[in-house]
Amino acid sequence: MIVCKFGGSSVADAELIRLVAKITQKSNDRRFVVVSAPGKRFAGDDKITDLLIQAHQGSARALEKVRARFLAIAEQLHMEEEIARELETIARRIFLSADYAASRGEYLSARILARLIDAPFVDAKDILCFDASGTLDFRRTYERTRAALKPLARAILPGFYGSLPDGSIRTFPRGGSDITGALVAGAMGAQCYENWTDVDGVFTADPRLVEGVRPIEQISYRQMRLLSSMGASVLHPDSIRPVFRAGIPIQLRNTFREDCPGTRIWADAHARLPLITGKPLESGMCVVAILHAEAPGLLENARASLDHAGIDCASHSVFADHLLFFLKAREFVRAVRALHETLVELPGDSRTCSSPSGTLSAENPDAH
Ligand code: ADP
Ligand code: ASP
Ligand code: MG
Repeated sequence: MIVCKFGGSSVADAELIRLVAKITQKSNDRRFVVVSAPGKRFAGDDKITDLLIQAHQGSARALEKVRARFLAIAEQLHMEEEIARELETIARRIFLSADYAASRGEYLSARILARLIDAPFVDAKDILCFDASGTLDFRRTYERTRAALKPLARAILPGFYGSLPDGSIRTFPRGGSDITGALVAGAMGAQCYENWTDVDGVFTADPRLVEGVRPIEQISYRQMRLLSSMGASVLHPDSIRPVFRAGIPIQLRNTFREDCPGTRIWADAHARLPLITGKPLESGMCVVAILHAEAPGLLENARASLDHAGIDCASHSVFADHLLFFLKAREFVRAVRALHETLVELPGDSRTCSSPSGTLSAENPDAH
């Protein structure tokens, strides 16, 4: 049995929701499907979750945008009446709490997909339990998830939220639908957690920032957790623990390129290329992280690369399996590009993947 999670860009419009339905129905093993709220359809578009948060803060315009977007989806999928009713309820309750408001994108996505494929909708508020302090109660969550899902051949669930002991909605941090998928996979003992997104898998750097990134066929749970906690938004760092504990592999896959195998995250894997990521810090600084610091001469090469690009590095830290560089936030993109060129592209030009949608090489250097 497989648990799938589809991210925001995979459910951004009606056509894509049809594609998600098709992928889901291709295999009876894909029993439990977690969906995000509709994300951006194009650069500069709105994410539904952002609009819902603005609507809660009082923006009537944002609420109207949410309504228009969901009604357009519902109309194309012939379920206007049901979704219009749901939207009325949400509009009435939008000021209830920030978490309630933020969660409604996932709620509606799941309602729509469930109706489309005629599968039961299971509300995450009834199975994902937080304690009064807002910490996830794993034991109760697993018990309830098993009790609710075991009898079902298939079910659609909203990601990103659960409930507090008083029944009110509590969300995970942003990007948290990944965590819901991992919890459902962990509770149900899935053979695989398929996480469907908008890129071919994990790359040596964020393909939005760097041209010539290379695909990673396999990576360990530990490396993935480090990579995502240092800034790689491709998978939420808190989604590793539930599957790691149960020994369930995560297969990161591209909704738009089903033929692409993606990246497998599991215990015995090891990405052999340096992986570069980073994130902003306070006071105009940022951190750039390089995983796989055991490669010979990596620190010297990285420092030379930054020097050559004229980038001042305030300090750096060396750990057993990664390096951190602290520098001005405005130098972030230049630093990532310079380091990627020196550490990944130059050492083996023939392996470069020209674009994020480029074909995964059968001779991927990360294969074991
Ligand atoms: P979803 O909505 O499916 O959860 P996200 O936007 O959260 O998708 O994550 C996918 C994005 O992660 C990609 O579009 C990509 O730009 C970004 N990303 C950052 N670092 C990496 C990396 N090392 N490899 C692949 N993608 C990355
Ligand atoms: N919709 C939420 C967000 O935008 C959660 C998610 O997509 O995983 O952060
Ligand atoms: Mg995400």
